[in-house]
Amino acid sequence: MSATCVFCGSADTLTGEHVLGDWLSKIGLDLDPVPHGAGWLNRIGRELGVRPPFRQKVRDVCGDCNHGWMSRLEVVAQRVLTPLILGQSGRIEATDQGAIAGWVQKTALTAMLVSSEADRGRGYGLPASEYHELYALRDELRPLPASQFWAGRYEGVRGWSIRVTPLAVSVDGLPEPDRPQAYAMTILLGQLVLQGVRFTTPSLQVRVSMRLPQLWPPAGPVTWPSGQPLEDDAFLDFAGGKGFRSVEQHIQVQPWQPATELEPSRAVGGMVELPTICGKHVVYYPAALVDEAMHGRFYAFGTACECPMAYLIHTEPDGAHCRAADTAEVISGLYEKLPGEEYEIEDDDGSFWCKRLPSPFQQKMEP
Ligand SMILES: [Zn+2]
Ligand SMILES: [Zn+2]
Ligand SMILES: [Zn+2]
Repeated sequence: MSATCVFCGSADTLTGEHVLGDWLSKIGLDLDPVPHGAGWLNRIGRELGVRPPFRQKVRDVCGDCNHGWMSRLEVVAQRVLTPLILGQSGRIEATDQGAIAGWVQKTALTAMLVSSEADRGRGYGLPASEYHELYALRDELRPLPASQFWAGRYEGVRGWSIRVTPLAVSVDGLPEPDRPQAYAMTILLGQLVLQGVRFTTPSLQVRVSMRLPQLWPPAGPVTWPSGQPLEDDAFLDFAGGKGFRSVEQHIQVQPWQPATELEPSRAVGGMVELPTICGKHVVYYPAALVDEAMHGRFYAFGTACECPMAYLIHTEPDGAHCRAADTAEVISGLYEKLPGEEYEIEDDDGSFWCKRLPSPFQQKMEP
């Protein structure tokens, strides 16, 4: 465990910093505990647990940072964003736009600290220099340079979400880059969605266009809501950085593949471990389904990770694939609607339920 503040490097006593400011618990949002899976999702046999939102804390930030510049960003965010989160129309004035973009940047960096040391050792998370650079700008109420931010309206069932997706900048005719040069930050709170992109290789910065009103660099007051609302069926692609359009010819900005494609499954006891697209968790399914796949029999099942996020998984000739990721209710509905007979597989953890798919070649349903 690092004993110094990730932002300023101070070795003073580290405090518990909320990933999302405490004020979010007090503005009238639904605070019911979020189930980590529901109904049939529990059949996979793992204790999925329930926890209320907005309680997650990280312990890598010193008291001076926590109660100083980070708190100042929270104060602006609370004043400006509260009505929008609750769905009341309003404006983000030009004088507040730097602080709001800085708050998105700070919140995304803080959220990435929730990962374990082991995950960070495997490259999950953002470079330490991002934290140090934001600290150097602490009195300027603005995000890191080489960045763009947008604000829009969200119409879906998620209560909140924070996602960071590494992005690759690729130039026509040149090989794929071997590391990401940018990342997308997406924060969803109530009816408000905020998104930013930051280029960590400044020479590769390109301006990107989005269908949402731009918050940073400032281009006048942002009237909210305006632009097309973001709905659940588009959320994963949006948060995954697929909505960016480079305004430069011959240059593309797209998700960095090694981070967004799933690692292969590995077998653990009688279960097969499958990393989920959230990038943080794994789910398990019975190894018997692998044997079935070898005999040309394929199945669909629902499962969930601790994000919480629910998944519809299909086994296919080349392994298990996530066909949809959404709330437990939506995934449950998709599973129920699938044709095919339901099977129960007994395993060490109890019963595992899945549906036999007619043929892998008839399963082209995309999320
Ligand atoms: Zn500090
Ligand atoms: Zn949990
Ligand atoms: Zn997850």
